[in-house]
Amino acid sequence: MNLCEVHEKLGTTEQCLEYIEKMRWPDGVKRCPTCGCEKVVKVERKTASKNNRGWFYMCQEATCHQQFSPTAGTLFHDSHLPLIKWFQAIALVLNAKKGISAMQFRRDLGVSYKTAWYLYHRIREIMAEGDIPKLGGIVEMNETYVGGKQKGKGVYYGKKQKQTVMGAVQREGIPKMLHVEDTKVKNIKPFIEASVDPNVERVMTDQSIFYPYALKPLNLTDRHETLNHIIGEYVRGDAYTNTIENVFSLFKRGIIGQYHKVSAKHLQR
Ligand SMILES: [Zn+2]
Repeated sequence: MNLCEVHEKLGTTEQCLEYIEKMRWPDGVKRCPTCGCEKVVKVERKTASKNNRGWFYMCQEATCHQQFSPTAGTLFHDSHLPLIKWFQAIALVLNAKKGISAMQFRRDLGVSYKTAWYLYHRIREIMAEGDIPKLGGIVEMNETYVGGKQKGKGVYYGKKQKQTVMGAVQREGIPKMLHVEDTKVKNIKPFIEASVDPNVERVMTDQSIFYPYALKPLNLTDRHETLNHIIGEYVRGDAYTNTIENVFSLFKRGIIGQYHKVSAKHLQR
């Protein structure tokens, strides 16, 4: 849903509540979320105010009498922000392909920086909680290094100070990325194990030496195909890693264009 659609379909609190209710309880409210009994009634308030919605549900079980609304126990629970702001915020996050900064968020939503930061991080947390299935079919994998310009020479020069990010993507699917300490097998094997379905058709990587070592204990060696970038081989039939390269490219342009600077501590977000 884009911002215009949010404005059209979810322009009032009532519309938002109806929408949340349909998502949560497509067949209507059947049970009390607290005690599980089926004696639930809808109660209309005579006068609705800003903080008092026009109606709520009530459990009629004598020992319970729980009052609840469709937002109970959700992302929107106990929020003082109008629901319309939440939906505008969600639309902004979902449509920002390269990410969006809390500053941009503040400007777009017309809220304080503190509110913008809170909304942004809550939405991202919820997005990360969803269980993304393991990647199957043809999976491309690569690693990338994130970090500013290196000053000076010596032990800190080069990749040492850069942060390593592993990435895997299913063709036509969504990517998975993980901030790892380095590309030692002990760090990348758990990522592959957690991201790639054991029944994957093929795994494409470049010829970096650590992939064979990480893929072997996972019994993926027979389905591993590599491209020799050193001799200029980037595509061989349907073997290529352009999809994951594009993911990294968006990710990096996001860091440069939206976040400007990302500390190692927050990189995983
Ligand atoms: Zn109850």
